[in-house]
Amino acid sequence: MAEVLVYVDHVNGTVRKPTLELLTLARRLGEPVAVFLGPGVGTAAPVLAEYGAVRVLAADLPEFADHFLVPRVDALRAAVDTASPAAVLVPSSADGKELAARLAVRIGSGLITDAVDVEAGEHGPVATQSVFAAEFTTRSRVTRGVPVITVKPNSAAPEAAPAVGTVEQLAVTVGEASRGTRIVSRTPRESTGRPELTEAAIVVSGGRGLGDAGNFALIEALADSLGAAVGASRAAVDAGWYPHTSQVGQTGKSVSPQLYIAAGISGAIQHRAGMQTSRTIVAVNKDGEAPIFELADYGVVGDLFQVVPQLTEEIASR
Ligand code: FAD
Repeated sequence: MAEVLVYVDHVNGTVRKPTLELLTLARRLGEPVAVFLGPGVGTAAPVLAEYGAVRVLAADLPEFADHFLVPRVDALRAAVDTASPAAVLVPSSADGKELAARLAVRIGSGLITDAVDVEAGEHGPVATQSVFAAEFTTRSRVTRGVPVITVKPNSAAPEAAPAVGTVEQLAVTVGEASRGTRIVSRTPRESTGRPELTEAAIVVSGGRGLGDAGNFALIEALADSLGAAVGASRAAVDAGWYPHTSQVGQTGKSVSPQLYIAAGISGAIQHRAGMQTSRTIVAVNKDGEAPIFELADYGVVGDLFQVVPQLTEEIASR
């Protein structure tokens, strides 16, 4: 059976959930082989094996830490040469998409980004994408080279399928061209203690209906009662009520959680573009004609200042 490379997204060996989703999807296409770059493979390998990695190709070079992504492209290239895979799957983060694009150019392959599903096809993997502000669903396949596909977080439920997961060292030569820039310092963002927006299983978002920045506390309280991430519409972000890093939509982040709760958001097409693939959508809006209700699985026509605290109280009491 052909091997399928899965690029591992991790923090010092703690594997992030999108990688487990990719390992689950990769099993539809062949035997998953994890590509682990950086420190912590000892921590990661048992988890990768639990989710089906038949082997783990690992490399930890100083260049991964103090340069941008390009040395990782050298490593992925080496992994492709080693495994001759049927496909390369990469999580659809900003870094993942840059890495995938650079790899596809390097190996002369076609690239599909932001897939929400991947399945085996007669002529290679077929990826499903949601396009044009989620107005259309397309199914595509790469017709040239090793398919490189980025997959959005929450596209599949991770399922364990224990495999051997032997760790093998990957020989990587970092070319001079890959050292063009160097990271001088890093300042970690202050943690909110909430899950990362694009990976969260539940997202609670607030919009202009909140009226001012202070009222986002209502959204945060509901999010915390559910263990959710907080999102915002562009109107709320442009008003300075919430940081741009939390903006959901065409010019913000694209999320695909199990549950998306929109409070005081009208549901403009540009907002929908970033959340329409959510599994279940709940809207709270005082205007029963708001476009968000065309999309919502459950809707509450009411004042968010009454509905949201009641919801938080009810969830917290359970
Ligand atoms: P509004 O459209 O003003 O809606 C507020 C809603 O709150 C209304 O439906 C109202 O009925 C409701 N409301 C008011 N008070 C209450 C209350 N007390 N209780 C309950 N409901 C209440 N937008 C994005 O979100 N993300 C993007 O990435 C994005 N990118 C864009 C890119 C371009 C090129 C352009 C042109 C626009 C983009 N927009 C984006 C903006 C988008 O068109 C909308 O203007 C924006 O989404 C509106 O935000 P909103 O729903 O919070 O505000």
